[in-house]
Amino acid sequence: MFRNTSYVASAQHLRDLPPPSEPEIAFAGRSNAGKSSAINALANQTRLAFVSKTPGRTQQINFFRLARGAFLVDLPGYGYATAPKALREQWEATLSTYLQTRTSLRGLALVMDARHPLTARDELMLAWFKPTGRPIHVLLTKADKLSRTEAAKTLQRVRARLAGFDIHWTAQLFSSLKRNGVDEAEAVFAAWLGVEVGPSLMLATAGRTSGHHRRSDGHKKAPGQRGKPGAKRLK
Ligand code: GDP
Repeated sequence: MFRNTSYVASAQHLRDLPPPSEPEIAFAGRSNAGKSSAINALANQTRLAFVSKTPGRTQQINFFRLARGAFLVDLPGYGYATAPKALREQWEATLSTYLQTRTSLRGLALVMDARHPLTARDELMLAWFKPTGRPIHVLLTKADKLSRTEAAKTLQRVRARLAGFDIHWTAQLFSSLKRNGVDEAEAVFAAWLGVEVGPSLMLATAGRTSGHHRRSDGHKKAPGQRGKPGAKRLK
């Protein structure tokens, strides 16, 4: 689904955002949490999200277009203790307004370092996004840095905390390095966008391996199997 994703534009101010004509998924996370690497792993490209790291773009909202037409939106990383207060305040105003008012936003992917999940700022993001009633998917990345037991415990702890928020959430372990969790994340985002996923992807997310590259198009549909009413079939 994220293959052939390409950079389209960056916005410094809310007034510069592209029109909300396509559904979009925003990615947020603390600086260094592994957000760029996760976007690159999903897109299966090595340098895509580095656009967001080029000087002058780190505090911008960066838009990438999926081959199917939807936008992947890379929000500025937060949590630099050294950032000047005025800059942080400006960032907070822009981000909270974007998250709460963007009509085309289908959901928020919140990237956290599995070793340091749920920072105060992560919780602030949850609080800002909650009133929209839209879903949040937590990617606990760098999971390869934890033992299996530690990773499972972390996931359990994060889920327990998320259960305390009155939001529609899902959470998973992820590793950009090992490419673990890519199929699971893709299935969640595909559902948000109303994109049908191919049979091999569904098998993969059910915990079985297909041995094939997944494709989310081109598979034969049974008569009448056209997706949910109102679900937008992306180009
Ligand atoms: P961002 O600031 O949130 O975009 O973070 P980056 O994607 O640039 O990652 C920050 C650092 O963490 C880099 O050195 C990455 O190589 C490393 N990193 C990111 N994801 C993973 C992962 O899944 N596993 C490991 N071991 N390192 C990762």
